[in-house]
Amino acid sequence: MSQEYFDDKECMSAPEREAYYNRRLSEMVTLGYERSKRVRRIFDERGLTPSDIKTLEDLKKLPIISREKLIDFEAEDPPFGGFCDPTVEIDRIFTSPGPVYEPHLGEDDPLWARAYYAAGFRKGDIVLNAFSYHMVAAGLTFHGGLRRVGATVVPSGTSSAQQQVQLIRDLKVSAYTGTPSFLQAIIKKAEEMGYDFRNDFGVRRAAFGAEPLPMSLRQTFEEDYGIDTYQMYGATEVGDIAYECREKGPWHICEEVIVEIVDPATGENVGPGVMGEIVVTRLNNIFFLFRFGTGDLSSITVEKCPCGRTSHMLNGIAGRVGDAVKVRGLFIAPSQLKVISERFPDVTFQLLVSRIADRDFLTLKLESTGTEVESVEFQERFKNYFREICTVKIDKVELVKVGTIPSEDKLIIDQRKWE
Ligand SMILES: [Zn+2]
Repeated sequence: MSQEYFDDKECMSAPEREAYYNRRLSEMVTLGYERSKRVRRIFDERGLTPSDIKTLEDLKKLPIISREKLIDFEAEDPPFGGFCDPTVEIDRIFTSPGPVYEPHLGEDDPLWARAYYAAGFRKGDIVLNAFSYHMVAAGLTFHGGLRRVGATVVPSGTSSAQQQVQLIRDLKVSAYTGTPSFLQAIIKKAEEMGYDFRNDFGVRRAAFGAEPLPMSLRQTFEEDYGIDTYQMYGATEVGDIAYECREKGPWHICEEVIVEIVDPATGENVGPGVMGEIVVTRLNNIFFLFRFGTGDLSSITVEKCPCGRTSHMLNGIAGRVGDAVKVRGLFIAPSQLKVISERFPDVTFQLLVSRIADRDFLTLKLESTGTEVESVEFQERFKNYFREICTVKIDKVELVKVGTIPSEDKLIIDQRKWE
């Protein structure tokens, strides 16, 4: 087992997993109530005691804390908003814009190691860590995860692309971690310097974070440069959240976090497959931040992954809560519309959401560039694909003249008025 998985927890049976999460949650609640004045206040205001929060179901009794809220709490009670145990020795303090101050959670937490392990990073690898080591949590926490799987780290941080190329060459770097756009810049720089990146260097693996990985860029890395790519997802306030395994399907949720998907409008939890905000509780005994609202949109899948890990999975990141438009109770995110426009690259379209007879009405405007767009067959194909991606049905198709839809406009416009 240890060959294929970071640890046995990744393959717990459903009852084992439930018991594990409930136990860890209860421990954090008990300790948090004892050690964090903010947690005590939140509980007291709601008339709750630690014995009221014993299961994942009970967690819903606590409020969701957004990043904005966390910034307010920390400003009111610096530096950690009362969420931190004041008696523990903190190794280091990170900061992110806001400002938000985050205590490092100590060395017991396998932060990012699950992701690197699943991506095949091992002892013997020499990894270029191009995440920033300055102020923010990124560089050092990714570094810790790499060390935990046995890899040797080159802490190159945000050095110039030219310096990164030199390091790759001189140190025989075998893997990269950082943003996909920076790896792209490094490859371009190497080519400018006269190297053949694929044949002159040994970079065969990459784990990306902090930025989406466009499908086209992934293909370029894998097919043109022979680099096996993986995505990792986390948030600076709560650490690693989910990662890709060799199947490169939905992302496995880490065993150190509880992930809920919540309708941002109502605060209610939604079921598998339904899109909502990712809300995270990191199980730890230092920083008692329950139910952190990431502002990112996704849905959960509970299907089994062929890799053998049994965790629930996130279906990627569809965008930010504020950028999505809700139609008949379901979110349509900009990233979904991008997928559709990539499928129909020659078609200019825009969606309008209006309200007719107390019901959301979705109109598709299509620029009639040629005969195909005007055919019923094409429109059906478009509508079906749209429904497949967004799970919402288009009510009406409207053909408009070429040039009517301004190219800088959003792909979806909300015309509803709520009075
Ligand atoms: Zn898997």
